Order: sequence, then C-alpha cells, then structure tokens
Amino acid sequence: MTTQRNTRQKQAIRSAFDKTDRPLSPEEILQSARGDVKGLSLATVYRNLSALLEEDWLQAVEIPGIPTRYERAGKEHHHHFHCNTCGKVYEVAGCAMQVKPRLPRGFRITGHEFTLFGVCPDCQ
Ligand SMILES: [Zn+2]
Ligand SMILES: [Zn+2]
Repeated sequence: MTTQRNTRQKQAIRSAFDKTDRPLSPEEILQSARGDVKGLSLATVYRNLSALLEEDWLQAVEIPGIPTRYERAGKEHHHHFHCNTCGKVYEVAGCAMQVKPRLPRGFRITGHEFTLFGVCPDCQ
C-alpha cells in the first residue's frame, strides 16, 4: 500500500527528530530513518521535509556555508553551534547575545541570529 508506506516514511523521519535534540541535515535524517524504513531514499527524505515544513512541524536552520539543517518548529529562542571538525550542528539553549548593539537613530531590532563555531566534545 502506497499510502501506508508514505505514512511509515513520514513517521520514521519524524522520529529521527524525536531521537535527537540537534538540527539534522537530510543525510543525517536518512541515516537515522533508514533503520525504520527499508529502501528509504534521499529524494523521499527531501519530499517529506517539504511537507513537514509546510505543516509547520519543522523549520529550516540556515547557516552560511553549510547545507540547510532542520529542527522542530516552535522551539524557544536559542542559537546553534557548528562543529568545524565533524560538521554537526548543536542547539545552544538560551541567548548568548548579552550585548545590545548601538544602533543608529531610528533603527529598531526585531530579531537576531548567530552561530557559534568550534569543536564539539566528540571531536576533541
Ligand atoms: Zn564534532
Ligand atoms: Zn538570541
């Protein structure tokens, strides 16, 4: 049954996110979900990612210079840490932006985004 298979694929992709607390690349999702669904392909992962983005179940994590990662939508404000050695992206709780930049007159900040770079414990 095609529908059943589609549901299983989507469930496996969702559970890849439930099993981890860091943003995942499509390749990482494939690796994690492949154990649950035989023959899962990267194209299928991408197709489900678009659906989950559209449903607001996922959101994209854009970090310059690396492929897009995905994480559960609606999380609290947080930042990301990118390991320069293994390329994994981790979630950093809270806000590291303690210093308020001095803006020219008339400017108002509505949000910010930044990524920490370094080496994760697994790579040290
Ligand atoms: Zn690492
Ligand atoms: Zn922040």
